[in-house]
Order: sequence, then structure tokens, then C-alpha cells
Amino acid sequence: MTSGAPYETDPTYQMAVKQLKEAAQILGLPDDVVEVLRHPERVLQVKIPVKLDNGKIAVFIGWRSQHNSALGPYKGGIRYHPNVTMGEVVSLSMWMTWKNALAGIPYGGGKGGVKVDPKKLSQRELEELSRKYFAAIADIVGEDIDIPAPDVYTNPQIMAWYFDEYSKIKRYPAWGVVTAKPPLVGGLHVREISTGYGVALVAREAAKILWGTVEGKTVAVQGFGNVGRYAAKYLAEWGAKIVAVSDSKGGIYNSKGLDVAKLFEVKDKTGSVVNYPDVEKKISNEELLELDVDILVPAAIENVITEKNADRIKAKIISEGANGPTTPEADKILHKKGTIVIPDILANAGGVTMSWIEWSHNRMGCWLTEEEALSRLDKKMTHNFHEVYNEWQKKYSDYPMRAAAYVIAVDRVVRAMKLRGWI
Ligand code: GLU
Repeated sequence: MTSGAPYETDPTYQMAVKQLKEAAQILGLPDDVVEVLRHPERVLQVKIPVKLDNGKIAVFIGWRSQHNSALGPYKGGIRYHPNVTMGEVVSLSMWMTWKNALAGIPYGGGKGGVKVDPKKLSQRELEELSRKYFAAIADIVGEDIDIPAPDVYTNPQIMAWYFDEYSKIKRYPAWGVVTAKPPLVGGLHVREISTGYGVALVAREAAKILWGTVEGKTVAVQGFGNVGRYAAKYLAEWGAKIVAVSDSKGGIYNSKGLDVAKLFEVKDKTGSVVNYPDVEKKISNEELLELDVDILVPAAIENVITEKNADRIKAKIISEGANGPTTPEADKILHKKGTIVIPDILANAGGVTMSWIEWSHNRMGCWLTEEEALSRLDKKMTHNFHEVYNEWQKKYSDYPMRAAAYVIAVDRVVRAMKLRGWI
């Protein structure tokens, strides 16, 4: 039965609900509880009129979706993208609920988005858009209410504007209202590397199970933004061989291995990894996924591993850096082939986990060193990986690993809702 909510017809939302229903079925949750879980607690839509440099006004639409707060204040990023829809934002907020529950951090799930191509705005226009968006959602966010952070095409500078705008409105420095701020205004240097580091950590742990070590294993990384580049950097540091990387302009391959420091330099100087000098061949993003490698890290966009290419994927371990890179159909095909797909809500939780460390600092006014923060992240991600892996092997091995992750996460949220008397 449809409720008439506008996000219900969105395909990404339908996929999120399908995943929820699968977990609910395994857990034996009644339909009415699923009905409670599938809807966000609140979605706010806002209008953001921006005075452009040419004197004209452009109107952008933004959303903040607050999916579930049983385990704590809503937490999740804000994305700027020309194709963002309300349905996508709602789905992503639901995924944050599961991700945070699974990570064992005291947060519910939220997500925001603005339908805009930020690359087409000047820095001044971007600042005006960011401040006005945050002012428009100021009534529903707060250190103990809803704590945004970056996501696709947003960054620490934008977080600094959000923090400043909110602090002006409230007339006190609200350090804990957003995370992944620049270090000078309450952020942590290591936040930037945390998502990629976490993606590498869980791949390392899976590699230890399969082969005893990650050393000498070959890796392909799709996407060379903040997630992909640091996943590559750490896997290389631990002795793996990065043989292929890509970004939106295409990919490169060298069977002898690519030098990650050089890749950083080329990407930063020229805008794309395709300009890396020492390559055996140029490849497309699609070809990268099907390479004969041990570990694959999809760290770019959603829905890249589908029923169309899943059969041709040769990697034994997939660590999902992006949110939603594998469709449920592809997940089943890969599971049958024996591939370990470490699901996004587990693999890319390093970012939000470091956000929690930053937020705790902001609330307490004292700081861990960078080494301490990274080692805490390592311990937490390693523990979480093995917890999910063991539950999966013990009870749910007929399903992909994602099912075990969902079951653990959904069960935690449902038990908190029961304890609080919501259901
Ligand atoms: N946007 C990131 C995610 O999808 C980080 C969220 C956060 O730090 O709150 O997990």
C-alpha cells in the first residue's frame, strides 16, 4: 500500500526498502514495524535563492531527511549534486541509520542534499548557497539534534560556513553542530582520510581471512576522490599492489603497480589520474571493475556493479567505498561465486566514525592526538568487521554479507525503539 509520500516512487528508495524488507524477513519482524522503519521521521524541503554574480537570482531546492533517532541524534552528510532527488536523500538517510547503528556510535540517521552543480558556481555563490541552505534548516539541526557533515561534492570549507552560519543564528560557537570541519575551527586533520582508511582496513581484515595477509595482493580502485585515494594509499602502505585506478575521466592500468604518491600529484595537478605517465593501457571505468585483481574498491558512484556485469567480476574481495555501488541482484550473483562483498554500511563507516570522535572532542573540549584518533578508528573498524563477518558465517551464510550487516543494524534500532516504547 502506498502512503502518498513523494519519495515512494524513487528507484533508490525502493532499493533501500527492499534491503530493509530482506533483513526484516530474516529477523521475523512484523509488517507494521517495517512500515514504521521505512519512513523517515521528518523530511524538510527548503528553497535557496542565490544572487548570482551576473545579478540574476537562481533558485535551488534542498532537503534534509531525518530517518530515525532511536539511537541518538540524526547524523549524516549533505551532498550537492545536479541529480539529487528527495527520494535519494531519504534513502541515504535510511542507510545512515543502519551505518551508525552498525558502527556502534550513538547516532540515528540523517542526510541532506541540494540539487545543484557546485562546479558551475563561483566561490562567492557557493558560500551564499551554503549559508542560506544551513540557515533554512537551522531550526531542525543542532549538536544534540542533527549533526551534518560532508558528502558528495561538499567539503571542510563548506562545513566551516555551516558552522559559522549556525553559530551566528544561535549567538554562540556551536562547535558540535557539523563535523569534518577544518582543523582550525574544531575539526580533525585525520577526518579527511578516515573513510578511505576504513575502506582499506576492512579490506585488509578480509584479506587476512582469505590469504593470511594483504601483502602482494592486487587492487583496482574506481574513483580517486577522498575515499578512493586514501584506500589506495593505505593498501599500498600495507604491501598490496595498486594496478588500476580511475576517476570520472577514465582509468589506467599497469600490471607492475602504480605509485600512489605520484597518482596524488598527477590528480591534484592535472585534475585526473588518466594523465599518469607510466601506464600499460588506458581503461574505462567499466573495464576496471572486471579486471583480474584480488581486491576491488568501488569508491565512485552508486549502481556500478549490476546483474549485467556481476558475473564478469573477478575480484575475491569487494570493499564498498561508495554508498550503494552494488545492486541487490548483483550482490546475490557475487555471493554465489564466493566473492566477499563488504557492504557500504560497514566498509565506508570510517568517515562517520571519525566524525563521532571529532564531535566528542567538540563537546568535551579536549583532544586526542592524530595517532590516537587513527588507532581508535582502526580498533573500531577491525572489531566491527569481525563481528559482522562472524555473525554472517555463523547464522546467515546463505545470504550475502550485506544481509548480516543489515540484520545486526536493524535489530539494534528495533531493540532501542522497543526500549523507548516507540513500538
Ligand atoms: N557522508 C559520510 C557518509 O556517508 C559521512 C557522514 C558523517 O560524517 O556524518 O557516511
